[in-house]
Amino acid sequence: MVLLLRYRSLTINLTPLLIPKSHSFHTLQSFRNPKNLISIPRISSSSSSSSSSSSSNNPTTTNRSISDAAKFAKSVLFVPPGVEIEELTDDVVLPGSNIVIGPFAGHSQIKEVEFVKSSARARDCPKDDRPEIAILGRSNVGKSSLINFLVRKKEVALTSKKPGKTQLINHFLVNKSWYIVDLPGYGFAKVSDAAKTDWSAFTKGYFLNRDTLVCVLLLIDASVPPQKIDLDCANWLGRNNVPMTFVFTKCDKMKATKGKRPDENIKAFQQIIRENFKVHPPWILTSSVSGLGRDELLLHMSQLRNYWDQ
Ligand code: GDP
Repeated sequence: MVLLLRYRSLTINLTPLLIPKSHSFHTLQSFRNPKNLISIPRISSSSSSSSSSSSSNNPTTTNRSISDAAKFAKSVLFVPPGVEIEELTDDVVLPGSNIVIGPFAGHSQIKEVEFVKSSARARDCPKDDRPEIAILGRSNVGKSSLINFLVRKKEVALTSKKPGKTQLINHFLVNKSWYIVDLPGYGFAKVSDAAKTDWSAFTKGYFLNRDTLVCVLLLIDASVPPQKIDLDCANWLGRNNVPMTFVFTKCDKMKATKGKRPDENIKAFQQIIRENFKVHPPWILTSSVSGLGRDELLLHMSQLRNYWDQ
């Protein structure tokens, strides 16, 4: 993807001015305690609004938006412990993200994955102290595709798509050492209000009570403008100190025939988040069609896990 190649070639050349002290301190500190990895939203009242972008499809505007995207990423870097901010170079920033890779990043490839169980309540989830990373998103956001893409096995997401399992918490053990947790999708158009309420209580119970939860990957569909339900979800997680990473899906859809392109949608989403959060959570661009972001996301997950495991 042009955007990513261009982004990668930029020199980060960070100075303390680009990352205010309060930001880096907060990020480093909160990394130590995964429960505080994410900042608390400043306000949530504007979360439902979606900002518009003035970019168009002409190359001049696209170039400007590329450099704006890179500048924005540099101003809100996610800096893990063990990284000297003054010495940062572009090599340590994952392409298509604001994520700095530090010394805790390690073995990230998935060799083995097994379905363990489906749970109806947080207290029914597997009882061991292995770390877990949960995957959450609106129905149709591309959650099953992303899970398949990460583990490179079709059966995994198929399990969670089986009737009766879509509304459950599904645990998959990876390399016998950590879990991927597939959470029920939200925003089903055809689900009754009562069912939606149940979903909330049930999933919220998981977030608030699961001690081994390292991070939530909150999936955001980059092919559509910011959605109120996603922003509400992000704000709720932030308010409750649940660590999250935004994973933008469907970033291959660069040639949208109608509506805005993914880079414009992503920018609009990030601007709203920036207004609502004291510290911008990590984000990464992915596509399960083109393979974009897979290795980078796995690496990011490895550093979150390894630090948590300390
Ligand atoms: P889920 O309901 O969140 O599990 O979503 P799915 O994984 O079933 O995907 C929903 C739809 O989006 C399907 O038609 C997928 O083929 C499509 N989709 C998922 N990921 C991508 C992607 O990265 N790029 C594109 N172009 N389409 C995708």
